[in-house]
Amino acid sequence: MINFLDLKQINAQYREELINACTRVIDSGWYINGNELDLFENNFAKYCGAKHAIGVANGLDALTLVLRAWKELGELNDGDEVIVPANTYIASILAISANNLKPILVEPDINTYNLDPKLVGEKITSKTKVILAVHLYGQLADMPSISQLARKYNLLVLEDSAQAHGAEIEGTRAGGWGDASGFSFYPGKNLGALGDGGAITTNNDTLAEVLKALRNYGSHEKYINKYKGVNSRLDEIQAACLNVKLKYLDDTINSRRNIAQVYQTNLNNISGLILPKIEDIPNNLRHVWHLYVIRSEQREKLHHFLSKNDIQALIHYPIPPHQQLAYAEWNNLRFPISDKIHNEVLSLPISPYLSEDKAFFVCEKIMSFFK
Ligand SMILES: *Cc1c(COP(=O)(O)O)cnc(C)c1O
Repeated sequence: MINFLDLKQINAQYREELINACTRVIDSGWYINGNELDLFENNFAKYCGAKHAIGVANGLDALTLVLRAWKELGELNDGDEVIVPANTYIASILAISANNLKPILVEPDINTYNLDPKLVGEKITSKTKVILAVHLYGQLADMPSISQLARKYNLLVLEDSAQAHGAEIEGTRAGGWGDASGFSFYPGKNLGALGDGGAITTNNDTLAEVLKALRNYGSHEKYINKYKGVNSRLDEIQAACLNVKLKYLDDTINSRRNIAQVYQTNLNNISGLILPKIEDIPNNLRHVWHLYVIRSEQREKLHHFLSKNDIQALIHYPIPPHQQLAYAEWNNLRFPISDKIHNEVLSLPISPYLSEDKAFFVCEKIMSFFK
């Protein structure tokens, strides 16, 4: 059986160090907002090339709290419009709705699955205040163009970097492009905790201050509450484990890039199969391959075939947000590009510890399916 992602195998690589980290926290007697969190926030900010990192409970909270902080700072008001790709994972959109802001869904670029700056430009109105750029599957959105649009129309940029730790364009990483960026450390993400976790990065001192209060009941100082905050903190034990895994993040990204290269080379030129279009991507782009996503009109049959051959492939994502019951108000809207993506995508197994032999076996089976 080739698993999609073997978390047990991944964390087994760091078993000794993770146990030491947990032991250190247990023996310290200090479990929330302590030295492990400070250390991780410093390390992670440095890794992303940002001035500040603020640990929070999960990736959804990271995005939600940035928008909330901008409301506290008077940058946003109820009903303001936030542009977001229609094919994103629903969490990006939930963060907008949770703040009484208006999500404006935009069709993605069919080649990159990320925001299409031209279509974004068409959706900007006088109510638009934020572009929420999602770096889907581990590839940065076209941040140079999006930043340019944001400057032109005086918009804020929030990156959803949940799938893109370490991804780069022109040497600038996820978390270093926008006014703020939300990260997830959900166990299956490229940098995964042993439970839920998240962080925000920003270069803005004021925003960082507000976020540190918002995650902690709205308080900078015990029993003094400046905002109606929430409890959304990154536990010491998770921060300690993340400090261990962050050291190996670049190695694991390189392994993922090797596997992606095996797929890219061996699945080339199969008619009816569309690979990630990395030839369209400039050399200065570092894709971190959170997911290796192929497309086929025969997706259902291929998925079934792989499963019969003991290969676990997954669909990211089967139902677009505008077709969900949670957003019943959008169920009649038409997003043909997003619908096509959701009907055709299939994510092949990819993990830092998947052997090249196994990746090659996956290729052989796919080749035999299309023969
Ligand atoms: C995982 C993910 C999130 C949410 O992160 P959680 O830590 O699970 O809350 C948000 N956006 C995207 C694109 C994601 O993949």
